[in-house]
Amino acid sequence: MKRAPSRTVRAGSVTIGGGHPIVVQSMCATRTQDIEATVAQTKMLHEAGAGLVRIAVDNVADVDCLAEIRGRVPEANLVVDLQENYRLVERVAPHVNKVRYNPGHLYHHEKQKTIREKVAFIVEHTAKNDCAMRIGVNCGSVDPAMAEKFEGADGPGLDGVTAMVESALEHCRILDDLGFTRYVVSMKDSDPRKVIEGNQRFAAARPDVPLHLGVTEAGMLPDGAIKTRIAFEQLLSKGVGDTLRVSLTLPFAEKWREVEVGNQIITDIEAGRYRSVPVFQDHGLNIISCPSCSRVENEAFVDLAFKVKEMAQYAKDYDITIAVMGCRVNGPGETDDADLGLWCGPAFVNLKKGPIDVGAFKYDEVLGRLRVEMDALIAAKGPVPAR
Ligand code: SF4
Repeated sequence: MKRAPSRTVRAGSVTIGGGHPIVVQSMCATRTQDIEATVAQTKMLHEAGAGLVRIAVDNVADVDCLAEIRGRVPEANLVVDLQENYRLVERVAPHVNKVRYNPGHLYHHEKQKTIREKVAFIVEHTAKNDCAMRIGVNCGSVDPAMAEKFEGADGPGLDGVTAMVESALEHCRILDDLGFTRYVVSMKDSDPRKVIEGNQRFAAARPDVPLHLGVTEAGMLPDGAIKTRIAFEQLLSKGVGDTLRVSLTLPFAEKWREVEVGNQIITDIEAGRYRSVPVFQDHGLNIISCPSCSRVENEAFVDLAFKVKEMAQYAKDYDITIAVMGCRVNGPGETDDADLGLWCGPAFVNLKKGPIDVGAFKYDEVLGRLRVEMDALIAAKGPVPAR
């Protein structure tokens, strides 16, 4: 398979980039503080072939648990996923092989500090602990300054791509300037076309930087695998991409399927077998759902996502996008772009119509309320247009 001339980045026992085999990754959906469940899922993903396993950390209690998990699964290469609380890197870096930070969440804490100062802090502790790093830009949480600066910069159906690419390039410049080059980049969106466009643009500007591919919140099988395959086939066939993660909403016991699907896509592309998946069906019902992780506000989320998919089938021919998200990290942003969106809280689910809040509903009430909103949307749309 043709590969971009990216540099090599070692993370524990795997090497990303430089023509090395594409590393398939996954992420634990269990609560990090549920040590037994997270040890079991980390082992499951590692044994399924995940070269890197990511674990979310939001507070000091998570860090202590991660240290225990590290000790119990020494064979796995671990990645920590940092969002708002970037200062945790100092405590967590000794227990992992790679650190992912999200540029779009660095502005929350310590507003008196510059983004560069915060990145320098992350670099200091990442380098000191022999870790690699990922600049992980996500459509649901792009740096607001970038989103504002590049609003309207993209063509139809590609809105937000320039802000994602420019945010990633800006952070590459900061890291290069700080003398830290052991990093990879990801730019993820729930729309495969934006993932293709963003990664192709970035690869053209920085072919030296290894890319981590992913369609975020791709959803449930089979749709999630189809959306992901569309993007990965277009990118990997052009040599773009050095590691990847397939983000699927799955029951805990089936999380290994993310690795299986990732490996299958690579094997097919290497064999020249393009499943010629249908052109992205940007019509009909489209359900976006996150793969869940330790931050999920209520473990009923995965079940809710499957119930939404089941309930919404009556509207499968309507151009309706429903987003079902597990928490506040990407929930509010990702649901803004959907016709109807659900993002979970501990006891209530927030229902939105595009950017407008409809209200917060109990987990056993929200499906009924979503149905009401769907019926209203369908009534407003009128009969399904002939295709
Ligand atoms: S939206 Fe929240 S729960 Fe879902 S994967 Fe993202 S951080 Fe985890």
